[in-house]
Order: sequence, then structure tokens, then C-alpha cells
Amino acid sequence: MSMLSVIVPCYNEQEAIPIFYEAIAETASKMQETQKDLEFEFLFIDDGSKDDTLDRIKELRAKDRRVRFVSFSRNFGKEAGLYAGLKNARGDYVVTMDADMQDPPSLLPEMYKAVTEEGYDSAATRRVTRRGEPVIRSFFARGFYRIINRMSSADIVDGARDYRIMTRRMVDAIVGMKEYNRFTKGIYGWIGFNTKWIEFENVERIAGETKWSFWKLFGYALEGIIGFSTAPLSLATWFGMMMALVSFLGIIFIIVKKIVYGDPTSGWSSMVCIMLLIAGIQLFCIGVMGQYLAKTYLETKQRPIYIARQTSDDEEDEREEA
Ligand code: UDP
Ligand code: MG
Repeated sequence: MSMLSVIVPCYNEQEAIPIFYEAIAETASKMQETQKDLEFEFLFIDDGSKDDTLDRIKELRAKDRRVRFVSFSRNFGKEAGLYAGLKNARGDYVVTMDADMQDPPSLLPEMYKAVTEEGYDSAATRRVTRRGEPVIRSFFARGFYRIINRMSSADIVDGARDYRIMTRRMVDAIVGMKEYNRFTKGIYGWIGFNTKWIEFENVERIAGETKWSFWKLFGYALEGIIGFSTAPLSLATWFGMMMALVSFLGIIFIIVKKIVYGDPTSGWSSMVCIMLLIAGIQLFCIGVMGQYLAKTYLETKQRPIYIARQTSDDEEDEREEA
């Protein structure tokens, strides 16, 4: 037997969950027709939802024991949800997908085939259109991918979704990355492995609304840049070096000017030279220190990535069964 874990991060998805479950259960039984030794588990991560998401999940669990869940003590964000899912999954293969049907379950058989028969470690999906998305959002998204790929060595694919199937080995590699500031798109690129890309047209969410405001996405983009590139830190270094150079040229210019024309306002020239030089050196030093500080700061806190308030493995289940 081999098992496929389906991980679904959910935040206020009470309308979408029943629809999603029907669709994935149907895909699962279709796949089992051809793959007799394939088992499924559906692992829902309730990311501190404020609506009836957890109740919907528990209803599903009551009728289908393949459904499991982890419920967070508050909203930790989708990245934490994905991490919790990967960490708690029991399958030999793991797929992560959204609850809102924007990740079409119909692609799953093809993705499963890529990792079981075609020798890939992972099959990921990428939407080739951004139809139905605000124009300004697409514009910034494109800009973000251009910038980060220029600044970071982890290659991050434009339009890549978090809809991805992985082998156990790859899942273990991701769970082994314990960084607190998680940017999964970057982590996938960083760990390597060979990935098959499957392209599809953008699908709009089936119910509820998007959890990502423009500013939330903006913050997410910044997190990606800071997490996977130290280029912004060296900016101060380069800036400082340039200023030091310019002031050095300035010094020569002013000295020559004084020798040739004399110095009518005495003291001014030497003052400007010193100020420019010192400002340049100061920025340079702050830049160097920042490089070390930023790296250390984030790692020393060692906070947990999520806190579970309740899981389907709790004693609550034993009570139900007794
Ligand atoms: N999500 C989550 N925690 C959050 C925000 C979102 O678990 O803080 C989940 C959400 O329930 C959905 C998925 O992440 O299953 C993608 O979110 P959404 O559809 O809002 O994003 P979009 O598709 O608009 O990028
Ligand atoms: Mg969505």
C-alpha cells in the first residue's frame, strides 16, 4: 500500500470546504480505480478560522475517517499552515492544495503519475494566465518575480501556485528547514530536486473571498526578498562606499581649488570634506554590521512556527469512540 496525503490550509472557508471535499473525494475514488494499492488521507489545517470552518471539518471527519485536522490557536498564516500539514502528513506522497477550488483536483492524477512513474521528485503547477485578477495586482506580482530572481539564488517561478505533489524525501527536506520566517516558494527553489511543471489557466475561487489584501501580499513579497536575499543589506555598504569615493574626489577638488584661487570663506571647505567622508564611512560600517545582525536576529528567537489548539489525534476522539 502507498498513501497520498492531501494537505488543505483553511482560513474562514466554511462555504468552500464541503464543495472541496466532494471534489477531492471523487478524484480520489477515480484514482483508486486504476491504482488499487493507493490510500488517501485528507489533512485539513484550520488556521485559526473565526467562522464554522472547524465544525465543517469535524462533520466530515465524523463520516469519513480519512479526514484528519490540526486546528491552530490563532491565525498563523498560510505558510505556517503548509508547514503544519507537511509535518503531520503520514503519506508516502504529499500534495498541498487550496480549499477554494483554485487548484483543480482534476490535475491530481497527472501530478501523481509524474512522481510515481516518471521519476520526478515533485510536480508543481503554474498558472499561465492571471485572468480575473485585478490588473494592478498582476503588475506588482510580475515586478516582484523579476526583482527577487535577480537578487536571490533560489529560483522562484512566476505564477507558481502552492499546489504541488512531493515525495516523502522532499517533504522531509522541507520540514527540516525550521526557519521562522517561511517563504515556501523560495524554500522549494532552494532545496532543489527535480520538478515537473504543469500549466493551467487561472480559476476563480468558488466561494468566500480571498484572504490576501494588497498590503498583505506586499508584506509577503518583502518577506520573500528578505528571506532569500541579502542584497538589500549590501545596499548600504555600496552606498557608503560610493559616498566615500565621491568625497575623496571632492577633497582633491577643493584642495586644488584652494591652491589655485585661494580660500575666501575659510574653514568651509575642510568642513564639507570631513562631513562627507565621515557620513560615507558610517553608512559603510552600519551596512556591514546589518549583514551579520539580520542573519542572527531571526534565527535566535526560535519561536514555534505554529501552535495547535486541537488536532484529530487528541483524546477527544477517544472519548467519541468510547
Ligand atoms: N489561508 C490560510 N491562512 C491565511 C490565509 C489563507 O490558511 O491566513 C488559506 C485559504 O483558506 C486558502 C489558501 O490559503 O485555502 C489560499 O488563500 P486565498 O484563496 O485567499 O488566496 P489567493 O488564492 O487569493 O491567492
Ligand atoms: Mg484562492
